[in-house]
Formats: sequence, C-alpha cells, structure tokens
Amino acid sequence: MTDFRKETRAWLEENCPPGARGEGQIPIGSTSIELESDVRLWLDRMAEKGWTVPTWPKEYGGAELDREEYQILVEELGRIGARTPLTGRGVNYIGPTILEFGTEEQKAKWLPRCARGEGAWAMGYSEPGAGSDLASLSCKAVREGDNYIINGSKIWTSDATYCDYIFVLVRTSPDKPKHEGISLVLVDMSQEAVQVRPIQLISGASPFCETHFDNAIVPMEDLIGGVDNGWTVGKRLLQFERSTHAGINISGSQGGRVEEDPLRDQVRRYAADENGFISDTELRNRLTTYEMNTRAQTITQRRAIEELQSRAPGFTSSAVKLTNALNKQDGDELLVAAMGSQGLKWDQDAEKEELATLKRWLYQKSLTIAGGTKEVQLNIIAKRVLGLPD
Ligand SMILES: Cc1cc2nc3c(=O)[nH]c(=O)nc-3n(C[C@H](O)[C@H](O)[C@H](O)COP(=O)(O)OP(=O)(O)OC[C@H]3O[C@@H](n4cnc5c(N)ncnc54)[C@H](O)[C@@H]3O)c2cc1C
Repeated sequence: MTDFRKETRAWLEENCPPGARGEGQIPIGSTSIELESDVRLWLDRMAEKGWTVPTWPKEYGGAELDREEYQILVEELGRIGARTPLTGRGVNYIGPTILEFGTEEQKAKWLPRCARGEGAWAMGYSEPGAGSDLASLSCKAVREGDNYIINGSKIWTSDATYCDYIFVLVRTSPDKPKHEGISLVLVDMSQEAVQVRPIQLISGASPFCETHFDNAIVPMEDLIGGVDNGWTVGKRLLQFERSTHAGINISGSQGGRVEEDPLRDQVRRYAADENGFISDTELRNRLTTYEMNTRAQTITQRRAIEELQSRAPGFTSSAVKLTNALNKQDGDELLVAAMGSQGLKWDQDAEKEELATLKRWLYQKSLTIAGGTKEVQLNIIAKRVLGLPD
C-alpha cells in the first residue's frame, strides 16, 4: 500500500463522521438548506483538508492531488461508504471554468467560496427560444458605468429556488454574428431584480424554474473570460457539466461512488426462479448486454480520467455522457420489465423500492436531454470527435 493510501485511509477513518456515510444528505452549498450536524462537520473538515476540490491549487482551496492520488481518494471514500462532502455547479461547473478562464482577482474572489460550499449555483443557459440552438439566446447585458444591466429570461434553471448565484450566458453585442456577441456573467440572486418562478411538474415536484432578470446588476469584474468570449467559455463549462454527468470530472471529490451495480440482484429478485435462474431468454440477454455495457462504461470512464490533461476532457465528454445516459436508461427499462405488473404501481400499495425504481425510470428519461440532448451530443461526436463534414 502506498504512503498516500495509508495516510488517506487513516485520515478518513478518523474524520468521516457516521452521519456522512451511506445514503443521505449531500450539500450543494445552498445558504437556504440547513445541513445535518455530521454533514456540516464533514464538509468543514474536507474543505479544511482541500478535499472538496482535491485537484485544485492549494491557494484556491484545493489539495493539488494528481490523477493517481485523486483516484486513491475516491476509492478510499468508496471503501468506507463516505458521501461526497460537497457537490453542485460550484465545484463541478463554474469553479473549474473560472480556474481556466478567470483573472487572478476572479479566482481569488470565487474559488475559495466554491471550495467551502459558500453559496449554491444555478445555470442560466436555456431560454424559451434557445435550447439546442443555444447561440440564439436573447437575454441581454448592457454596460452602464462599472456594471452590466441584465434583462431577459432563462428557463429550466434547475434548483434555482434555493441557489444563491447564477452563471448566465448573455448577449453583450447584438450586432455581431450570434456566436460572437455572447458573454458569461455571474449574478447574485439575492437582488430583487432576479425573480424565480418554479415550474410545477405532473409529479408535484418543482425542480425546474423560470428565472427572470429585470434590470439585474452585475459588476463588470464578474464577467468571466472577456467580453464577447462567452461562446468559448460557455462551451467549456458545458464540457464540465457533461463530464460530471459522465463521472469523469475530477474537480469535486465524488465520494462513495459505488463500484458494484445493484441492478443484477434486483432483476434476479423479480425474475429468477428459486435456483436463481432467469428462464425468460430475452430478459437474460438484456441483462447480459447491460452488464457488458456497464463494464465497458466503467473502463471507458477510467481511461478518460487517465488521459485527462485538465479537470475534464474536451469533446470526449459528449461521448461518455451519452453512453452513460443510454446505459442507465437501458438498466431502468430492464428492471421495470423484470418487475412486471409490480412495476406499474404508483400509489401507497407500492413497495418503497418499487416506487423508487419507477420514479428513477421516469426521471432518467431526462438524462438524454439535460446538458444538451442526445442528438446534440451525436452532432458533436460526428463533427468534433470523428471529424465528419458538416
Ligand atoms: C433534467 C434537466 C435539467 C436541466 N437543467 C437546466 C439548467 O439548470 N439550466 C439550463 O439552462 N437548462 C437546463 N435544462 C435545459 C436543457 O439544457 C435543454 O432542455 C436542452 O438543451 C434542450 O433544449 P430544448 O428543451 O429547448 O429542446 P429543443 O432544442 O427545442 O429540442 C427539441 C428536440 O429537437 C432536437 N433537435 C434540436 N436541434 C437539433 C439538431 N440540430 N439536430 C438534431 N436534432 C435537433 C432535440 O434533440 C430535441 O429532441 C435542463 C433540462 C433537463 C431535462
């Protein structure tokens, strides 16, 4: 065992409280969500150690771990079932983007806050008229003295009701070609000029919001990556998002990642006879294919991390995000099929696990929409990975 593994193991054993192990609350940095005491303690201890953002430079709250050390940390967190101490768009999306594109002042201002989980971030990209064709966005920023004044609306802003900040793609130069007149700004959501309206879904939940800006103010120094350079900065941020979905963003510490997929046992519980044999040939074949794809996906994720030159890969993130999403959807379809009529219960008669499976099956349909649809990823893979003509 390497010294780093030994030290990590000992430190985690001593410092990870029981309430931060197994299933449970994971902070996103929101100031309006109260943390359980063990969760708070775990976050503070990990932040102090630099392990909420283990690969970031020490001066911005990280621990400067290399890829091998990062991998060991993840394995050791998984070994004791420790949950990630902090997740969300701060450590995973905007933090690494500021690290790449921010000025020294911007890094010093924002990164330690992200690393300590001081404020949750929403994502202001999509608009009613700009989803896949994101560059058509019309939310605008006009310079007034030392500030930008923001007007317009964003839609599908996940979690916006309890976020403190939002990074927003805005149009700064309406007269330029559409990709060349966009900038990325950081907006404080506590101002009156930012209004959030939850969108009620059929399930009763409201994870999505509309976010409206009515003369919202952004200090000039909170524009990231230069005026009208937002398309380049914003695309890179999307790679961090897609890499997070794909499990190959090494900014955050991603604790407690489960290596063993429980799906095989779940399918068996519903579809196998007393000898553990699944007599339905089609189901058996689907399970075998799913298991092979899952293994291939895990190996691909590891390879992608090993080949990293930075905290997340470039266009490869589209491929790994897509295969990851499709595989998860296949797994859910398979489990729901194995459950048969039990998989159709949607009321208090349903077992907890059945209802959870059904909800996950429905929710995971969104994996091929969020962060850019399946078709958008296929277009990127065709053009940027395979080099096919437009
Ligand atoms: C769970 C979830 C969370 C989200 N969170 C956020 C968030 O926090 N912030 C945010 O800004 N957005 C968020 N979104 C929005 C998401 O980014 C958009 O839904 C997505 O980019 C698609 O845009 P759209 O909904 O406007 O669909 P459209 O772009 O209108 O697409 C409709 C259909 O047309 C297809 N299509 C469009 N263009 C092409 C093309 N060129 N070639 C082939 N097919 C095409 C699409 O693939 C899709 O099937 C979230 C979405 C989901 C599902």
